[in-house]
Amino acid sequence: MSTANRLHDAIAELAGFNDDPAAGGITREVYTPTYRAALDRVAVWMREAGLDVRLDAVGNLFGRWAGTDPGAPLVLTGSHVDTTLNAGRYDGVLGVLGAIEAVHMLRSDGVSPRRSLELVAWAGEEPRFGTGCVGSRAAAGHLERADLDRLCDRDGISMAGALRGAGLDPDRLADARIDPATVHALVELHIEQGAVLESGGQSIGVVTAIAAPHDLRLTLRGAATHAGATPMHLRRDALAGAAEAMIELERLVRASPSGTTVGTVGVVRVRPGAINVVPGEVELDVDIRDSDLAARAGVVKALLTAAKELAARRGLELEATPIVEDAPVTCEPRVVEAVEAAALALDLPCRRMASGAYHDAMVMGSRVPIGMIFVPSAGGISHHPDEHTEPENLERGAHVLAGTLARLAE
Ligand SMILES: [Zn+2]
Repeated sequence: MSTANRLHDAIAELAGFNDDPAAGGITREVYTPTYRAALDRVAVWMREAGLDVRLDAVGNLFGRWAGTDPGAPLVLTGSHVDTTLNAGRYDGVLGVLGAIEAVHMLRSDGVSPRRSLELVAWAGEEPRFGTGCVGSRAAAGHLERADLDRLCDRDGISMAGALRGAGLDPDRLADARIDPATVHALVELHIEQGAVLESGGQSIGVVTAIAAPHDLRLTLRGAATHAGATPMHLRRDALAGAAEAMIELERLVRASPSGTTVGTVGVVRVRPGAINVVPGEVELDVDIRDSDLAARAGVVKALLTAAKELAARRGLELEATPIVEDAPVTCEPRVVEAVEAAALALDLPCRRMASGAYHDAMVMGSRVPIGMIFVPSAGGISHHPDEHTEPENLERGAHVLAGTLARLAE
């Protein structure tokens, strides 16, 4: 079968593993029976590509092509096949099925890699349990056994419980660790999820750095008094204070010296939430990202200072609770150069760029040398049923991945 058809057919078939087709998109959360069925299908495709398949203690699926020098540190590539709710069909999936396609390409080109190649479908890249990338975090040694009881999904199911439900043993968490000395390099193929490549007319993005989030919750407490009977000068309105904090966040992010900082309040919880009551308590879930750690830290610090000042001025109590704080990652120059060389060898227009979204490669980048390959996302749309990448760009991504793997495995 031609490359184009095999990759397209596989992506279309995997899209059929879906817990909510009526919503129009794809819902396939990690550790559900639907996810497991999809993973079993991926394992079959891996075996058809001649790979030795194994599942680790947290459900990361690996497929290995032994190199001619099997003791040499290996080259790892992959992404994820779980989705968020009502999502698209390419996020993560391209990096797994595109890697299988890359193996077919290398085999048909008669390549026999010196280093072993290992493909992986990481478990739980999307944050079912509040934190994303749980599979790669386990592999990188960033998860403790206690975290598996602490991390819960929206129905209160812990990650440990979900693992047991999927036939896995949370007490074997340590077995999922990957010894960094055994990995020469990791490269992840992914859709861009932004519109930089499309607007620039390039078909390949060579990722040089991955931005990481610092997430925190700001809780402002005032007094939930009567909206009619409380004159303005006697109010302690938590929502008015939160609004001021949100505008201040936007101002600070725009003024950040790196020029790449982004800041978002994606969740606002207002209590009691009645039209005739002054809001007494508000929670803001704040996400601040940058590939420049110092710039990101500067915005976080300035936001906390501004929030304290406005809380004091408005008679509000302020509480700041940490959610997650990941380190941005700089891609390894030799991986960046291998990706660029592979794209140029195929005469594909490419550009160097930072990734604004985080990926499993960011988590593994704390332990092993990494790089990423991006292909364009139509309109920059992702995590949505309209997520789309042109078929020729999917194939180009797989081709560039194959060329990159061949270079890294020499
Ligand atoms: Zn993804």
